[in-house]
Amino acid sequence: MEETPERVLVVTPHPDDAEIWCGGTLARWIRQGAEVYYVLCTDGGKGSEKPGVTADELAATRDREQLAAAAVLGVKEVVKLGYPDGELEDTSEFRKQLVREIRRVQPDVVLVTEPYRRNLAWHRDHRVAGQVALDAVFPYARDHLHFGELWSEEGLEPHKTGTILFWGAEQADTFIDIGETLEIKLEAVQAHRSQVAEHPQREVIDYVMERARDAGAEGGCAYAEAFRKVTFRTT
Ligand SMILES: [Zn+2]
Repeated sequence: MEETPERVLVVTPHPDDAEIWCGGTLARWIRQGAEVYYVLCTDGGKGSEKPGVTADELAATRDREQLAAAAVLGVKEVVKLGYPDGELEDTSEFRKQLVREIRRVQPDVVLVTEPYRRNLAWHRDHRVAGQVALDAVFPYARDHLHFGELWSEEGLEPHKTGTILFWGAEQADTFIDIGETLEIKLEAVQAHRSQVAEHPQREVIDYVMERARDAGAEGGCAYAEAFRKVTFRTT
């Protein structure tokens, strides 16, 4: 993808997914003038092995960490849907919430988790978020008779999104060079202290670096992020 989008919507199942998988791309586009908006689907309240911590305490911590990470990248807004971690379902209500954000933000590109991995394990919330975001882009946000009340009650016009980039795909076809924004990506990932700094044994940074090198090798540069691209007609 050579061109920089003007408006970008990121659907992230948990706090930290967006920074880990596409933070370099987002930082690059923001530097080039793009406006980036997040929809954070769950509160991340189950992401700890620490005995004694409650889901509510962890959710509050992760909320702060997500806002800090988004600020590092320069994200304009984080809309939180507040589902409990691990409980995303493919419901009409969730789909409507994503359609609302698509119609509000009017993105050129939506980034979200790959819903269709065959051979690699993937969090259930990642599969569900990818599927529902795909459906929300096409056809629900596009066709005005779907969730017509978003127009009649909230004044939100239908919107045609041109591109979805799925992160975490088994077979990526789109590589974005993040050589100039790798440092800012790592800083954003490290803002998720409960996941990274306080759990060095998880080796999140090593994993992020390995992914960046592997994607770079495929994409013909030092460091990249890898996506599967789906395009839609917008005219
Ligand atoms: Zn996740």
